[in-house]
Amino acid sequence: MTRVVLSIGSNVGDRLARLQSVVDALGDAVRAVSPIYETEAWGGVEQGAFLNAVLVADDPNLDCFAWLRRGQELEQAADRVRGQRWGPRTLDVDIITCHDGDTEIRSATAELTLPHPYAHLRAFVLTPWLAADPEATLTVADTMRPVSLWLEELDPAERASVRLTGLTLHTERAAG
Ligand code: ATP
Ligand code: CA
Ligand code: CA
Repeated sequence: MTRVVLSIGSNVGDRLARLQSVVDALGDAVRAVSPIYETEAWGGVEQGAFLNAVLVADDPNLDCFAWLRRGQELEQAADRVRGQRWGPRTLDVDIITCHDGDTEIRSATAELTLPHPYAHLRAFVLTPWLAADPEATLTVADTMRPVSLWLEELDPAERASVRLTGLTLHTERAAG
């Protein structure tokens, strides 16, 4: 059984529908969903604001690489076109952490880096993650800290760049 924390974002087209498509496709695997936040784009490329959210999901049949492929399939289903690095995209699905049973999987390849190497620097990851899982921890260079603490260490301007929206993602579970 693996459990992943997924950061999902969209800044092209029907952003809300793109995020909802991930929740719909994962169906019963979804354990927790954050509210939706709006964030100015990160990384210096001039582009529209993102909607961002974090999901916690688990699956008895997927390993961490299979989750990466699953995320890429969802990006393709959203017609993502690979362009400029950190450029606009219909859908981005990043694996932030992956646990196999009680073991946190670490990986240092370009194909799959776990935990995600920028997670602790990004308020658009940490803020929704904390909302989805107030107990979450993140290990960076052998230092494990609560996500709340990583967030406190960010520049206030970085934290303020992430705004709560009134938009929500609907899970099958919630729909009964
Ligand atoms: P960033 O990683 O800074 O958020 P990005 O999301 O824009 O950048 P992409 O173009 O979506 O980057 O992905 C580039 C590559 O990153 C993918 O081909 C994928 O194999 C690799 N990758 C490595 N680690 C991860 C991870 N934890 N989650 C998702 N993709 C990853
Ligand atoms: Ca990303
Ligand atoms: Ca990505």
